[in-house]
Amino acid sequence: MINERSCGACGEGMMRPRNVRGTTTGHRDDPAVRIRTDLILPVCDFCGDSALDLPMTKALDSALEASYIAKRRKLQRALLNDLRNRGFSDRQIEHFVTVRPGYVSKLKQGKVAPRSVFRLLYLLHEIPDEAMKAVDRLNRFRPRKPQGQALPW
Ligand SMILES: [Zn+2]
Repeated sequence: MINERSCGACGEGMMRPRNVRGTTTGHRDDPAVRIRTDLILPVCDFCGDSALDLPMTKALDSALEASYIAKRRKLQRALLNDLRNRGFSDRQIEHFVTVRPGYVSKLKQGKVAPRSVFRLLYLLHEIPDEAMKAVDRLNRFRPRKPQGQALPW
């Protein structure tokens, strides 16, 4: 039960129960996660601020986490499908991201990649040629042997 009261953030509006389904907010490393379940929270009718108690905070976090996982799985699948359509094999992707063979298969089955792995997948998807060339250079890099000349410093 949510009691209506004045908003402590703006002093103008009233905190009123509102279904926040459909609104977006930041969660984990995603700046825009949409709440996809019915969730009644006290929201200021003037400034949109909300004041949550612990159970409300937990309910919101749980709703956001479910949406985040669903969104991330969908996005991972789309990235991997695009990469496959561009001719990348699972092994090439795994090599680029530096994960064990079979990892891409786990992602396809619904495993959610950690942030760092997801970012590398995203990078490979956005600039595949440049990303592969850069990693090739990195893998081939060997420091030059000294040429017997005086160093410049
Ligand atoms: Zn307010």
